[in-house]
Amino acid sequence: MSDEKDRLGQRLRDVEAAREDQWARKRDAELLEQMRERLNAMLCPYCKASLGAASEGGVEMLKCPNDHGAWLGKKTLERLLSRRK
Ligand SMILES: [Zn+2]
Repeated sequence: MSDEKDRLGQRLRDVEAAREDQWARKRDAELLEQMRERLNAMLCPYCKASLGAASEGGVEMLKCPNDHGAWLGKKTLERLLSRRK
């Protein structure tokens, strides 16, 4: 009887763990989707084309595919400007 109780307890823990895994996977998928939507929301202010990730001279940036400009993080820009001094 005690053995059966243990097995039942283990089974319940397994089911609970599986539910948590499923929840975590769903949550990860939702977060990835939000990140994709945010990336898609980055549009060039001139032509509204989606900005693409690019790397020039080791500097990561988002660029307009029609060469209207490139966008950098503020810290990256500050680092680049401080190199010129
Ligand atoms: Zn543009």
